[in-house]
Amino acid sequence: MAGMSGISCDDVALSSYNQKVHFPWGKDIIIYDSTLRDGEQMPGIAFTPEQKLDIAILLDEIGIKEIEAGFPAISERELKTVKTIAQQGLNARILALSRLKKEDIDAAIRADVDVILLFIASSPIHLKYKLNMTIDEIVRKIEESIDYVKAHGVIPSFSTEDSTRTPMDTLKLLVRTAENAGARRVGFTDTLGCTTPEGIEYLFSEMCRFTSLPVSAHLHNDFGLSLANALTALKCGARYVCATVHGWGERAGNVPLEQIVMALQYLYGIDLGIDTTRLKELSEMVSKYAGVDVPLTHPFVGENVFSHESGIHVAAVMRNPRTYEPIDPRIVGNRRRIIIGKHSGRHVIEAKLRELGIEMDEDEINMLIDRVKLEGEKKGRLSDDDLIRMAMEVKKVYE
Ligand code: MN
Repeated sequence: MAGMSGISCDDVALSSYNQKVHFPWGKDIIIYDSTLRDGEQMPGIAFTPEQKLDIAILLDEIGIKEIEAGFPAISERELKTVKTIAQQGLNARILALSRLKKEDIDAAIRADVDVILLFIASSPIHLKYKLNMTIDEIVRKIEESIDYVKAHGVIPSFSTEDSTRTPMDTLKLLVRTAENAGARRVGFTDTLGCTTPEGIEYLFSEMCRFTSLPVSAHLHNDFGLSLANALTALKCGARYVCATVHGWGERAGNVPLEQIVMALQYLYGIDLGIDTTRLKELSEMVSKYAGVDVPLTHPFVGENVFSHESGIHVAAVMRNPRTYEPIDPRIVGNRRRIIIGKHSGRHVIEAKLRELGIEMDEDEINMLIDRVKLEGEKKGRLSDDDLIRMAMEVKKVYE
């Protein structure tokens, strides 16, 4: 696997029932990261320009091929930040978001990005309550905007916002308009994250048949289906899918970058060329800069996902980690943790004592196990210091 030449069969043990699935674009699938744009739209997050640059550089180093660096029209500072990232000479293409407005497009052009992601809402509810525009007006805007982007030598991409609540004939009209005007890719969005994988299958299959342009997917997670929907969109012929670190973004967020990368590389065997061993590092950087903790149970990068406390599990993991870990934690740059608590069995406590250099006889260990269970029930997780203190107390009793 990419960036992990040291990985052997012993490091991965996945389901026996995974089916072989055909992804039309295979290793040419592009996961584009929007941590710096949609991710930053998570309420309460505001990265500094330096932090944005650090994140962009790390994304580039791990092999992410496209980075949506921001929305340059927001402010001069945002424009400058996107421009700094665009001028770093990264391998990744740099993308910027823009409404179909001259001032937005001008800002993106000044930011020197490779691709401008033009978008406009297309659903009846957005047309009426947000834009107050007719479809004919939108068609003219699309033509003008794409012409303008092309005239400045930048690649235009066109997306409808709220695609999943837009009638199919409207989507087709707008896509054909964009295609004829010279868009180089078209995107569809599940802006409210309210579509089933079956709905995504219908929409993306239909649109991938309808247009000859590469298709992109921007999916939200309001029903917790963003990852399933992203895999479905790719299976149906989408070439690009948007993700953010931890899936952080507006409301329930987006497709989690680390999960889509791991699912494609390890469950579906598609080598995207991404160095997964730095995913934990990326997660820590984004969490620190955002000032938001990563949930303990977050797949791959959470603190608990390679932690074991239950006696039965720990004993098995000590004999062969693949009994209770699908992959070696080092594959994602995480590590195994053996936790002492009320579920701990003799095996783990003996191992922990050895690790801490504490010698105890059989009776003392039995008494210590009783205390660990009692205190573990009150405190939950016990630290090494807790265990040392309890061991010393037990020894005193037996003196
Ligand atoms: Mn979004």
